[in-house]
Amino acid sequence: MTAKMTAAGRRIAGSGRIPVENPALGEVFAEAPAATPDELGAVVEAAAAAWPGWRACAEEERRRRLLDCGAALGAHVAEIAELLTREQGKPLHEATAEVRLACDWFRHTAALTLRPERPVDDAGAEVVVERVPHGVVAAIAPSNFPIILSVAKIAPALLAGNAVVLKPSPVCPLSTLRMGEVIGPRLPDGVLHVVSGGADVGAALTGHPDVRMISFTGSVDSGRRIAHSAAADFKHVVLELGGNDACILLPDADIAAVAKRLVGRSLVNAGQFCAAIKRVYVSRRQRDELAEALAAAAGALTVGDGLAPGTDLGPVVSRDQRDRVSALVTQARQAGGRVVTGGAPLDRPGYFYAPTVLTDLPAGTRLEADEQFGPVIPVFAYADVSEAVARANATPFGLGGSVWGDEATACEVAARLDCGTTWINTHGELRHDVPFGGRRSSGLGVEYGHWGLLEYTRPRVRHVARRHGGGR
Ligand code: NAD
Repeated sequence: MTAKMTAAGRRIAGSGRIPVENPALGEVFAEAPAATPDELGAVVEAAAAAWPGWRACAEEERRRRLLDCGAALGAHVAEIAELLTREQGKPLHEATAEVRLACDWFRHTAALTLRPERPVDDAGAEVVVERVPHGVVAAIAPSNFPIILSVAKIAPALLAGNAVVLKPSPVCPLSTLRMGEVIGPRLPDGVLHVVSGGADVGAALTGHPDVRMISFTGSVDSGRRIAHSAAADFKHVVLELGGNDACILLPDADIAAVAKRLVGRSLVNAGQFCAAIKRVYVSRRQRDELAEALAAAAGALTVGDGLAPGTDLGPVVSRDQRDRVSALVTQARQAGGRVVTGGAPLDRPGYFYAPTVLTDLPAGTRLEADEQFGPVIPVFAYADVSEAVARANATPFGLGGSVWGDEATACEVAARLDCGTTWINTHGELRHDVPFGGRRSSGLGVEYGHWGLLEYTRPRVRHVARRHGGGR
C-alpha cells in the first residue's frame, strides 16, 4: 500500500518514499511518502495563507469543526487501529483504545474556551488581555503513541486559531496519514496538513520562517536540535521529551499488592511510554521479594503479534530500538546486574524483547542513568528513603515519579522529587484536564487541558485610556 499526505486540502503522493516495517515480522509491508523540501515549503506557505481566514472564524465555528473531526475519526476507529498495530506493534486492543481516546480528545478540547481577561478596569483605563494564535504551528509526533499524541497537539492548536502542519514519525506514519485523510475534509482547506518524512523533513519544517510555534514530542536529542533551530527566530516551543521515571516503594511496602500494578505501569506499550516506570527503588530488605514478584507478573504476560488475540505485549517499534534495549541490558549484566527474568531478544522474527526484570545493579549503570524505552524493569535497593530520592533525582530527566506506601508519608517524599508530575500509589496516569510536562531535559512547557491550550496562544494586550491624554 502507498499512503498519501494531506496538503492544502488535497491528497498528494509526495516525491520521496519511506519503507514502513511491521515490527512483529521485521518486514516492510508498505511505503509512505517523504516530502521534498519544495513540497514542504509549498505546504507551509499554504498553511500561512489559510491561517488568517481560520483565525477570523468565530471560536464556536472552530469548536464545531473539532467535534466534526472527532466524529469523522470515530467512524474509522477499527481501520486506523489495525494500521497502527501493523506499523507500531502494540496490541490491537491498545491501538483501538488509543484511537478512541483521540476521538474523545477532540470532544474534550472543543469544550475548552479562551476568555479574554480584564486585569484593569477603572476610571483611568480598561486593559484587556486577549489570547491570540501564533500562526502556523509545526506539530511533530513520536513513534510510541502516534495518534493520540498528534491529536493532543492539533486539537488545541486548531481551537486556538492556528493552522497546523503535522509530521508523524517516519517509523509509523501510516495511521496518522490516514487520520489526515479522514479529518482533513472536515476543516477548511489549508488549515491542517499532514506531511511525512524523516528528521530532515522535521528540521526543514521547524526551520521554516513562516512557522511560529513548534509543538514537539520525542527524544531529548531531537528536542535539543529543535530548540537550537527555534532560537534563530525565537519561535515559541513546547517540548515534551524523554523520561526516566523513578518509582519509590516506601519501606514495608505491600509487595504482593503492588507488583502486578508496577508491571502494568512499566511495561505498557512494551515499555515505550514516556511516563512509564523505568526504575524501581525498594528497601534492601525487600529487594529480592519485589524482584521475584515483578518477574512472576512480567513472565505471565503473553508476548506476540499485536494482531493476535490475547497478546499483552507486542514488539518494540524498530530494530534500532530493540538493539538499544539489548545493549543497555547487556551492559548492566556485565556491570554485575542479575537478570531475574528475560534479558534477551526473543528468538523469533520481528523486534521482540523478553519482558525483563534485573537487580543487583551497581549505582550509575546506564540502565539507571538513561531512558531505555523497552520492556525492562531495573530494581535498585536503597539503604534509606533519602538515598532513593537522591538517586531518583540524579539524572538529567524530570518527567514524572511516584511514591508508593502510606499516603501522608508518600506525599512528603514525593515533594522532594524534581519532576513535572508526582504520583502517589499510582504512576503514569495522564488526563485531558491536567497539565503534563517535564523539567530539565524532559522538556519545556506543558500540554493538555486549559494550560496546554494557552501554549498555542500568546497574550495580546489592548489598553484603552479613559482619561484625556492617556494618563501621566
Ligand atoms: P525521536 O526524537 O526519534 O522522533 C520524534 C519525531 O521527531 C519524529 O517525527 C522525527 O522524525 C522527528 N525529528 C527527529 N529529529 C528532528 C529534528 N532535528 N527536527 C525536527 N524533527 C525531528 O523520538 P521517538 O523515538 O519517535 O520517540 C520516543 C521518545 O519520545 C522517547 O524519548 C520518549 O520518552 C519521548 N516521548 C515523550 C513524551 C512526553 O510527553 N514527554 C511522550 C511520548 C514520547
